[in-house]
Amino acid sequence: MYLACPLSLLAEERSTLYKGTEKAIARETLLRSLQSRWDNSNKGRWIYRLISDITSWFRRRHREVSFHLCQVLTSHGYFNEYLLKYYRRESGECTQCGATPDSAEHAVFACDAWHNWRRETCGYLEVDQLTPDNMIGLMLKRKRKRRGFNTAKERLFELKHPQEENPDRLVLKAWLRRMGRTERTEEKTQTS
Ligand SMILES: [Zn+2]
Repeated sequence: MYLACPLSLLAEERSTLYKGTEKAIARETLLRSLQSRWDNSNKGRWIYRLISDITSWFRRRHREVSFHLCQVLTSHGYFNEYLLKYYRRESGECTQCGATPDSAEHAVFACDAWHNWRRETCGYLEVDQLTPDNMIGLMLKRKRKRRGFNTAKERLFELKHPQEENPDRLVLKAWLRRMGRTERTEEKTQTS
């Protein structure tokens, strides 16, 4: 979905393998090229801040990305800034503290309402401060830390919107309403 390796780099790697380059060397070259592109791109800068070391990200042993981590990485989810764009909120302000915009960065790293949650999470990760620049690196370092962090992160989302539906579904409903359709008719259309 995101942070996919460009096909051109994969094709280049395949070509050097075909010419007899060792697999480990070819992979090292690919990751260096990927890191260079990532450093010099002007797209996806929020994810870049979270995952600046893309080599470590691609080398991680546990490759699953949870629903909640996905929301933090994309800033798409239970954030009023995102929901406002899709007419699901009248304001992009944080419901808890009134700050604007209510983004992933605000919710996870700044909102006063989650001070205690943040302090507890710092305990799991054994750091003084949780920032966009250190969070993913800490998660990648040790499995135990990532588990603790994932549990804490899921709790944040439960507390933030306990009765809320999946934000992707909220956005789909808003979009369908604008198009004069309902979710049920859309499902019928997709299956017919
Ligand atoms: Zn807030």
